[in-house]
Amino acid sequence: MKPTTYKVEADILTHDKNPYEMVKELLKDSISELNLSENIYHMIKKPMRVLEVSLPVRMDNGEIHNFTGFRSQHLDVLGPTKGGIRFHPGVHADEVKALSIWMSLKSAILDLPLGGGKGGVKVDPSRLSERELEELSRTYIRKITPIIGPQKDIPAPDVNTNPTVMGWMIDEYDKLRGYNIPGMLTGKPLVIGGSHGRLEATGRGVVITIREAANVVGVQLNGASAALQGFGNVGSMTAKFLHQLGVKVVAVSDVNGAIYKKDGLPVPDLIEFTSRGKSIAEYRKAEPIRHEDLFRLPVDIFVPAAIENQITSETATHMQVKIVAEAANGPTTPEGNRILENKGVFIIPDILCNAGGVTVSYFEWVQNEMNYYWKEEEVNQKLEERMVEGFYNVLKMRDQKRVHMRKAAYMVGLKRIVEAFKARGWVK
Ligand code: GLU
Repeated sequence: MKPTTYKVEADILTHDKNPYEMVKELLKDSISELNLSENIYHMIKKPMRVLEVSLPVRMDNGEIHNFTGFRSQHLDVLGPTKGGIRFHPGVHADEVKALSIWMSLKSAILDLPLGGGKGGVKVDPSRLSERELEELSRTYIRKITPIIGPQKDIPAPDVNTNPTVMGWMIDEYDKLRGYNIPGMLTGKPLVIGGSHGRLEATGRGVVITIREAANVVGVQLNGASAALQGFGNVGSMTAKFLHQLGVKVVAVSDVNGAIYKKDGLPVPDLIEFTSRGKSIAEYRKAEPIRHEDLFRLPVDIFVPAAIENQITSETATHMQVKIVAEAANGPTTPEGNRILENKGVFIIPDILCNAGGVTVSYFEWVQNEMNYYWKEEEVNQKLEERMVEGFYNVLKMRDQKRVHMRKAAYMVGLKRIVEAFKARGWVK
């Protein structure tokens, strides 16, 4: 597996960079903007269940390494909880909790009958052999088996996990249960019940929201410029679809480096290059730049597609962009956000921008439950409809309440969750 870990911020648990503190502030703010009772905040601020597990794995050298994993289930009032599993050295309980809350909001904005969940293992997967990684993946699933299932909580890929990892995980689950249960997780390889279009879904959704935002802002996409941070599944697919729309992707980065080409990078060639396990830093047909410089480029569109806390007070100050499309979850700190909003940047917030992944995961789960599969065009068409509808629901809220896109997105998600609270008689 390619090393795709970003530098872990030493101060991730400081208030401004703790994603759980960040999401709670935003929830509080949006609840008061909607004139909802503070009780709603107290009902929503904590995940309903968080499990911490120990994951002893026998390493290739014979030693046992005991990893730590988590699964957070935020809220299941709209449906079973759902969300990815990440393998990253920066994973901690507060991060997983925040990510599960974001999943609840994402599903609510896209009108999916799902709640929010998220899992993670604190590990740098680039340091594990394939056998160690498989052992870790299977051990994690064994440990969280009591709380997951197709009607309970449905995992999926996230940072540094992919269809191969999902294949190991579902195999372990099926073995434990004694029969084949394809709907227990999504993002599977096609041959064992994956959905057409799932691999491209997050990037495809990101670009649908960029297309609509460009319309609102008045940016002509054909010939516009973009820079992307991160070139994993989401970053590379976003680059591919932007390139198809005639956008010049002038700079991209991964953990090892960043590259620049004024007239636009040859995206298909770059994707082919990285798919052979190579890093962006090794690509010779472009100019190497410093990672910090990525944030200083005067481009129309900036796409953070890595992890949290990348657009900060330090980086946001230098940004000269019209649209920020948050393909990653939580890439912008509150201070970074304030700076961008003051500059008049149109931010497509993560809980809207990257919701294409969970949307096609939902379609995968529906197909698994029917045991009947759709063609790719059908999946893409359904994704297009959901993303466009989600985008305009948020935009409408923005205009009605005169708030920025991020708060508007929270408000749309919260309203739907509160409707479910009411329907269940939890609040009047
Ligand atoms: N990990 C992705 C996300 O953050 C996808 C989750 C899913 O497909 O359930 O939205």
